[in-house]
Amino acid sequence: MDKICIEDLKIFAHHGVFEHENINGQNFYVNAVLYVDTESAGISDELERSVDYGSVCKLIENVMTENTYKLIEAAAQSVASAILRTYELVDSVDIEIRKPEAPIDMELGSVSVKIHRSWHTAVIALGSNMGDSRAYIEEAVGKLINNEYVKDVKQSELIVTKPYGYTDQEDFLNGAVICRTIYSPHGLLRLMQSIENEAGRVREIHWGPRTLDLDLILYDNEIINDPDLVVPHPDMHNRTFVLEPAAELAPGYRHPILGLTLAQLLEKLKNNG
Ligand code: ADP
Ligand code: MG
Repeated sequence: MDKICIEDLKIFAHHGVFEHENINGQNFYVNAVLYVDTESAGISDELERSVDYGSVCKLIENVMTENTYKLIEAAAQSVASAILRTYELVDSVDIEIRKPEAPIDMELGSVSVKIHRSWHTAVIALGSNMGDSRAYIEEAVGKLINNEYVKDVKQSELIVTKPYGYTDQEDFLNGAVICRTIYSPHGLLRLMQSIENEAGRVREIHWGPRTLDLDLILYDNEIINDPDLVVPHPDMHNRTFVLEPAAELAPGYRHPILGLTLAQLLEKLKNNG
């Protein structure tokens, strides 16, 4: 991918852990690399087909001066997110924030934080079988839509399904969303768990009744096998209530391990079931 690079943008701002930093301020230097396909701008010589680096610099300045963060990690996160949300053509960014006047009792050239952030595609399955299930699910989708690190949220139809695993419980309402997100897989899982907790979810019986269950089904084409996160979701291909809504949203999305699309997995499950 092509890159547009901004180097050593000097911004006077007030970030820091110490109160005197917040009051007096100091110079920060920002490096930004924007990953953009510049071919059509290159061929047409039209600014509208690329990203105006002057306006990017202004945006960085606004984010850096309109907020006071303790950490340059937080400043970098906000700058990255603002650029990704503002410029549709930007696929991913590297942001480095340098703080050459960092207050430590030693001589220091500079200290910096460098992050990479990118838009990713995620498919999330939603389920509920306690209380006002439709309201829990709609509220969860609303929270995803309003999250600054999530965009382009599309929601499937909600379907009523019979319980799976532990069958002595109410019917479920199930659905799925597909979205674009800046979160890492673990960051997205943490967000999903906080949304579950806000819905009063109590973890009691495995596969038992729940106000809200959010499962990360697919994340780009990534294969993750961590103790707390397995993606693609290990049981997704056996669950009609996951595949049906997910295939409605993205029939051509290919399972990175099984090699079949969501539509094909659903077809296969229906034929075998
Ligand atoms: P289930 O969804 O199977 O009924 P829970 O919602 O209670 O079970 O989740 C139990 C644990 O599953 C969570 O603590 C989480 O860390 C783990 N987990 C592993 N992979 C995933 C995934 N892809 N999506 C959601 N949770 C996952
Ligand atoms: Mg779950």
